[in-house]
Amino acid sequence: MAVLQSAAEFDEAQRKASVAAIEEIAKQWASTPPKDFDAWFARNVDRLTRTVEAGQAAAVRNTDRYVSDALEEQNIRAPRVAEPNPSRLVGVTADGRTIEGLLAQSVIGARARIAEGMPAYQAWQAAGLEVRRVISNEFADAGRTATGVGIVSRLGVGYVRMLVPPSCARCVVLAGRYYHWSSGFRRHPNCNCKHIPSREDRAGDKTTDPKKYFESLTEAEQRRAFTVAGAQAIRDGADLNQVVNARRGLTVIGGRAQRTEVYGQQLLTTREGATRRSVASAAARRRGRNTRATPRLMPEAIYEIAKGNRAEALKLLRDYGYIL
Ligand SMILES: [Zn+2]
Repeated sequence: MAVLQSAAEFDEAQRKASVAAIEEIAKQWASTPPKDFDAWFARNVDRLTRTVEAGQAAAVRNTDRYVSDALEEQNIRAPRVAEPNPSRLVGVTADGRTIEGLLAQSVIGARARIAEGMPAYQAWQAAGLEVRRVISNEFADAGRTATGVGIVSRLGVGYVRMLVPPSCARCVVLAGRYYHWSSGFRRHPNCNCKHIPSREDRAGDKTTDPKKYFESLTEAEQRRAFTVAGAQAIRDGADLNQVVNARRGLTVIGGRAQRTEVYGQQLLTTREGATRRSVASAAARRRGRNTRATPRLMPEAIYEIAKGNRAEALKLLRDYGYIL
């Protein structure tokens, strides 16, 4: 697969939007530790959440156009049978929980570090860094999930994994592989690999060909991504798949369906546990969020339930509002 212009442009636009939103979050994070972390959080959680939502909205905005453009660029005709509603992915984390709860975890973490003896300033800075890291991960996931919904909404297409360098060894070996639309996108925290909507695996480009990507790196970069021994083994002709265990640490976020009893009702949700932090839930409710509906069933859990049946997946996606 040659470099798709649509994929490169989409990645650049997404990256810009993510950086802008992360900068905004950095500005909103107090530069010095507040006296009372919880009080600070209670005052600022709404504004922070709105910023995260704006970033998510930017991340999902042009995903359906990207899916169309990428297919067109490959001369693939795939009738669109549903209209994706990516705004449904705004205001929820990749594993179906509230943004407020995710933000609260960093503040809780900061307090725990102080309890362990870390100076307040350092703990607060670390929490700010963590927020930026987990939120930029959320932006990438929102974009990926929306792209996935765009793919399932078109007949006969799946996706190829594309690297956005620099990439880790586990992602490199998966680059260029073709996946059925129902295969959850395996990723690790801060993974920036992307879907290329496609019909089959077409090797050729360094972002979709593991060996070419490896060869595009300097020896120092090869050692960093594949370890000294691994890099040497690959240079000596070993197969990348034998050197790297791609299964380790790559998971499908939001892809584990289970039936949970939530307030006496049987709901299908993602398997990740719900974190109910009082401040976060209260803030979520104030913002009109139905905290009972979290953790929410995410698209990748729906694909799992549908077991490869596109009509069934589309029905559930419609029930949960991910498509119109
Ligand atoms: Zn990776």
